[in-house]
Amino acid sequence: MRIAMIGTGYVGLVSGACFADFGHRVACVDKDSAKIDGLNAGVMPIWEPGLEALVKSNEERGRLTFTTDLAAGVKDAEAVFIAVGTPARRGDGHADLTFVFEAVRELAGVMAPGTVVVTKSTVPVGTGDRIAAILKEEGVADFSVASNPEFLREGAAIADFKHPDRIVVGAEDSHAQEVLKEIYRPLFLNRAPILITGRRTAELTKYAANAFLAVKISFINEIADLCEAVGADVQEVATAIGADGRIGNKFLHPGPGYGGSCFPKDVAALIRTAREARSPLSLVEQVQTVNSERKIAMAGRVERAAGGSLKGKTVAVLGLAFKPDTDDVREAPSLTLIPMLQERGAAVRAYDPHARENAESLLPGAMWCESALEAVEAADVTVIVTEWNELRALDLDRVKAAMRGDVLVDLRNIYLPAQARAAGFTYAGIGR
Ligand code: NAD
Repeated sequence: MRIAMIGTGYVGLVSGACFADFGHRVACVDKDSAKIDGLNAGVMPIWEPGLEALVKSNEERGRLTFTTDLAAGVKDAEAVFIAVGTPARRGDGHADLTFVFEAVRELAGVMAPGTVVVTKSTVPVGTGDRIAAILKEEGVADFSVASNPEFLREGAAIADFKHPDRIVVGAEDSHAQEVLKEIYRPLFLNRAPILITGRRTAELTKYAANAFLAVKISFINEIADLCEAVGADVQEVATAIGADGRIGNKFLHPGPGYGGSCFPKDVAALIRTAREARSPLSLVEQVQTVNSERKIAMAGRVERAAGGSLKGKTVAVLGLAFKPDTDDVREAPSLTLIPMLQERGAAVRAYDPHARENAESLLPGAMWCESALEAVEAADVTVIVTEWNELRALDLDRVKAAMRGDVLVDLRNIYLPAQARAAGFTYAGIGR
């Protein structure tokens, strides 16, 4: 199968490289020439485990190419995936579809008859209909439009793509269904179920999935606060309720609130869609509020742990990415926390294994360090914000010895309170 992938970001690059690895010929197109030049020179634009080797091996086999020339990329593709960004529109929370429609208009002039145009970007219900209308308007007569939302997680993107829980294909016509089944055929060997649905259903499924996960996270975060108030342990509550197959143990980790490039914007866009459809999702609206307030509340937690004031204190912040194993800092809790610590008079020393480059310009005034141990040097308080593996395995005695103070705020509960106390820390976790 010949495939074009428009948009070579976190989703487009991983999907393109994995499709090539399935044996398809994939042209990845991006309008960012620095990104494409880098990729052609072997430099990955993002940090994702396993990606560099996957890209390299498929490029060497001639199955994966990178170009800024959309016409060249799509001219003989049987399927064109759109994987451009759909950020939140300023002001109203709606998904901004400018990049999607721009790509579709460009595509219209150059695609071959019978091409299947597939949205992999997360797009609101009805976007497929609008894409079909644009293609018709532009004079394209023979085409299909399908929705194939992506469920991969940054940090585990390749494994998620190759071993998905399910593949959702929203397509109204049999040609599009057959093309997508053929593209994903290698995954049937792994028995990945492919769910063929209507286009609107597929579009909504992605938002419903993310909103549900956001509900789960906010639920356990509120239970964590209640645990603190009544003297219970949220880790034990989470383990006990997660053992119930109806609940499941995933996404029951209390923390500083969800961030990332997907949950906040997808929750906002779903709320908008629901309001416009006069079928409001009041539960999801509440989750949005709970999560924003939670991120803001983290600075107060650090301040309380530090004895009530951060004036003149030095705080080491470990972990800036919104989750481990990615360099993505979009909507990361660290971006809310650090300026609030600074406003309260703290000097912040920051460290992240891979996200510094993305975070640096967003966090003026922070002092950047090359290691966790360097960051904690002479700090009064250490705050763990992202649960990177290397932060799970800190030598707490060395951390304590390097610090001036003794406060450890563990916003991910990666240390046991007793273990931290044994190393001499005044420990503050979440919900215990
Ligand atoms: P990204 O910002 O990393 O990448 C988007 C890319 O599209 C950029 O490189 C940009 O230059 C390019 N682009 C924009 N307009 C273009 C055009 N007209 N022609 C060619 N290239 C163009 O975004 P992302 O994180 O990969 O997300 C893409 C979509 O996938 C979004 O809708 C997102 O919600 C969805 N999604 C993301 C994830 C994730 O974990 N990041 C997971 C599932 C779904």
